[in-house]
Amino acid sequence: MKVALITGGARGIGKAIAERLKNDGFKIVIWDVGECELKDVSFMKVDVTSFSDVKKAAKKVGDIDILINNAGISRDQLLLRMKEGDWDKVISVNLKGVFNCTHAFLHGMIKKRCGRIVNLASIIGLIGNKGQSNYSASKAGVIGFTKSIAREVASRNVTCNAIAPGYIATEMTVKLPNEVKEAYLKSIPLGRAGTPEEVASLISFLISDKASYITGQTINLDGGMVM
Ligand code: NDP
Repeated sequence: MKVALITGGARGIGKAIAERLKNDGFKIVIWDVGECELKDVSFMKVDVTSFSDVKKAAKKVGDIDILINNAGISRDQLLLRMKEGDWDKVISVNLKGVFNCTHAFLHGMIKKRCGRIVNLASIIGLIGNKGQSNYSASKAGVIGFTKSIAREVASRNVTCNAIAPGYIATEMTVKLPNEVKEAYLKSIPLGRAGTPEEVASLISFLISDKASYITGQTINLDGGMVM
């Protein structure tokens, strides 16, 4: 049975990805800092920001086939009001976390000459947003990282792609002010928020044999917000 590891898989988009890949027949490993209620998955409390904790946890897991770098946070604030800690925390989870986890598992994938990595970026990493300079910089970083890793390991049959969701209804977005949500909805041609299951569906495709010739790409999943 192939093993898929999902960071931040205890809730939101990550949880939907875990459920979908479980149904697709993968053995699921979830790393999260929160509690995980999902049944029939292997759960480990791991903070992706710690290089050494990630290495130790990866050793316990062993080789994996699929890595979904999904853990992410936001600490929105206009730049002049942004605290140094808000900048550091977002870069640390959203960008360094992706580096830490990829670093921990890439060697195993290269050795097996097979592997799939999917990173959760965001359309905000492509177009920017007021009050999200930290988040936007982290996600733009994830897109650059994705392309570099794709080039580094393509000859070893390992693919690395990113997904750029728009406005997906999860706990991360439920806390947005109503006027921000309304503005988002107005800017979405399909006229509604996306669902975590729709993100999971794209992931399911990207890690399948059907997507064997796709690497280094960032695929928007945003109801047409950015085109
Ligand atoms: P949620 O906040 O709902 O879930 C994120 C999960 O990641 C939580 O379980 C959280 O745990 C966990 N997490 C946070 N920090 C760490 C850490 N240091 N180590 C391990 N796990 C951690 O977010 P979403 O499901 O909405 O988002 C998932 C991904 O998709 C993120 O990368 C996000 O940036 C991206 N995305 C989301 C969009 C949306 O509209 N929702 C749009 C574009 C991109 P806890 O809550 O306990 O801290």
